[in-house]
Amino acid sequence: MWTAGVKPHPVLAASDLPLNERGRLTATPRLTVEGTEHAWTAGDAAAVPDLTAPEKGKECAPNAQHAVRQAKVLAENILASLRGEPLKNYEHKYVGSVASLGLHRGVAHVYGRKLKGYPAWLMHRTYHLSRVPTFNRKARVLAEWTLAGLFKREIVSLGSLEHPRAEFELAAGGKPPKTK
Ligand SMILES: Cc1cc2nc3c(=O)[nH]c(=O)nc-3n(C[C@H](O)[C@H](O)[C@H](O)COP(=O)(O)OP(=O)(O)OC[C@H]3O[C@@H](n4cnc5c(N)ncnc54)[C@H](O)[C@@H]3O)c2cc1C
Repeated sequence: MWTAGVKPHPVLAASDLPLNERGRLTATPRLTVEGTEHAWTAGDAAAVPDLTAPEKGKECAPNAQHAVRQAKVLAENILASLRGEPLKNYEHKYVGSVASLGLHRGVAHVYGRKLKGYPAWLMHRTYHLSRVPTFNRKARVLAEWTLAGLFKREIVSLGSLEHPRAEFELAAGGKPPKTK
């Protein structure tokens, strides 16, 4: 069940760049902003044409699957443009979705096959672990998940749930809020 929306950052409206009806920057398949030469865009802020969609006029959904892949193509295209080489189109076919619905429960729709319950939850965890960058970070996350499965919830960090800005304010030289 999804109760949050995804919308582009309002700062885009303060630019004179072309926006679509949802406030996303109108992008070309090469991830340049439509009608400009040196402005680039990707991710949630960008309405990138979905070249793999059966119907014309569809745009890539605002999700991390597209954002991380578009970032790579965007970087390659900026480099290619600086070198005077041809730019490539962003193209990624949707292969599926996985979602956790709490501990050991999930749903998955991958390569046309639907799964639910524990196998879907495990697939969700495995997929996200595969996306975590560097072996070091993967090992730390896996160790943390394994420990969390063996022991009770870690309560030391609960303060940061109640006052998530406190550490940042402290680091920025401000006074942290009083805790009870
Ligand atoms: C609750 C929730 C759950 C989600 N779950 C999934 C999921 O399971 N799978 C999935 O694929 N996608 C999921 N998404 C969508 C996914 O998080 C986004 O599509 C993805 O993060 C987009 O990446 P991005 O780099 O375009 O934008 P962001 O990740 O939003 O990055 C934009 C960055 O720009 C910074 N920024 C903004 N304004 C300024 C400024 N003026 N100056 C400097 N920096 C600025 C922001 O702080 C932020 O760090 C979820 C989104 C939400 C909200």
